[in-house]
Amino acid sequence: MLGVAGTAAAAPPTTGAPNLGDRLFPDLGNGGYDAQSYDVSYDYRPGVTTMDSSVVMRARATQALSSFSLDALVAKIGSVTVDGRPAAFRTAGEKLFVTPAAPVRDHALFDVRIEYTSDRKLDPPSPTVRVPPGMDWPIKAWINTPDGFGFMGQPDRAHLFFPANDYPGDKARFTFRVTTPSDLTAVANGSLVSKDLSGDRTTYVWRTASDIPTDITQVAVGKFREIDQTGPHGLPVQSFLPASLTGGDDLVRQTPAQIAWLEKTLGLPFPFQRYGVLGLDSDYDGVALETATMSTFAAATFVQPADQVTPVMVHELTHQYFGDSVSVGSWDDMWLSEGHATYYQMLFSAQQRNITFADNMKSLYAEDADQRSTWGPPAHMRNAGATLVGSDAAGALTLFALHELVGEQTFQRIEQTFYTQFHGRSAHTQDYIDVANRVAGRDLTSFLTAWLYGTATPAMPGHPDWKA
Ligand SMILES: [Zn+2]
Repeated sequence: MLGVAGTAAAAPPTTGAPNLGDRLFPDLGNGGYDAQSYDVSYDYRPGVTTMDSSVVMRARATQALSSFSLDALVAKIGSVTVDGRPAAFRTAGEKLFVTPAAPVRDHALFDVRIEYTSDRKLDPPSPTVRVPPGMDWPIKAWINTPDGFGFMGQPDRAHLFFPANDYPGDKARFTFRVTTPSDLTAVANGSLVSKDLSGDRTTYVWRTASDIPTDITQVAVGKFREIDQTGPHGLPVQSFLPASLTGGDDLVRQTPAQIAWLEKTLGLPFPFQRYGVLGLDSDYDGVALETATMSTFAAATFVQPADQVTPVMVHELTHQYFGDSVSVGSWDDMWLSEGHATYYQMLFSAQQRNITFADNMKSLYAEDADQRSTWGPPAHMRNAGATLVGSDAAGALTLFALHELVGEQTFQRIEQTFYTQFHGRSAHTQDYIDVANRVAGRDLTSFLTAWLYGTATPAMPGHPDWKA
């Protein structure tokens, strides 16, 4: 060992794990690297569902890699390069396996470029998510509209849109480049970086300033009416409704006031560079998705009665903090996202209806036993389909129970501390319990564990008369 003191022999390159061992989605995600950014391009042409597409994933190796995989379910993979050199590849199931010409060193940053064809007709249901019995929910990932399309990728369908490490614990920055006929508009997460006209086609480039998870990406093309406003601290609030929609502007224009309400309630500034809402001309009535920086709704939502719609708008807005900025480390942690969104939705709707927050939560509590038996406890749900709605109510009740136990001031400090510690990252259930214990200065583990993992509804602190 002459002259090489301190340099351990490097581990030989091996294959990255083909999944991340998620309990609810055992095939999802890929090991051996950490995605840093994606640069996704689409060429949209009316009348066909296929699009020439490409993605460049920049990733950092977390081991020496002889080969690795991405989640991918696209019509056709044309070519794959790693750091500019052609790489061998094969597809199997919903995976793309890549063998670079030379192994990737541990800790190295590397670029994977994939040329592919996407087909918006190729929209198989998730192999893992089952639509709950009795639920009429047209679960589709590609939303084809009369003059374009949009995304609904949660929880595990974003890899129909682009090959990726499709796992919420591996966040990355996104750039979307979409070329459309010039009478259409392309919108996406983040801010518009450039808009270049060439002949009768326009290329829109949108980019996020923050890391976001794959399942809440959004790219939409169509004829849109843009509604520009300014939120607190000069935040750009840029929303899009289908040009064909009559009305809806009044509700969309409530967005800056909702942001101001939530900032004040949480005592935390809005997480992202921009916000807004997107209405898609689709049959997704009643379904909304917290796509980062721009929440997505069925456009018809915005012509429904205000008192029904605004709490849902606040729900998706809250997700920008919890779910988008603080994303979930695994799918078992989904209550951190849905519980918070539902909690602040219920708080907002109580104020709107001039009833007490407790009265609003009492109605959720009355249904908790049913909810728990249908979906399982919020931090250990029965199946993958439960990630969509199964932790909403029980997650919110958990937070309310904590609020009632520790009081308003301590609860707010727990929320602020948790958010401040994990924004821009992802968090697990245990992270929230740790923060709660530390901030409250007492051991709340068994209290929170009963709410999060129990099969029976615990008693609600301060409300001995409530019956589950
Ligand atoms: Zn939600």
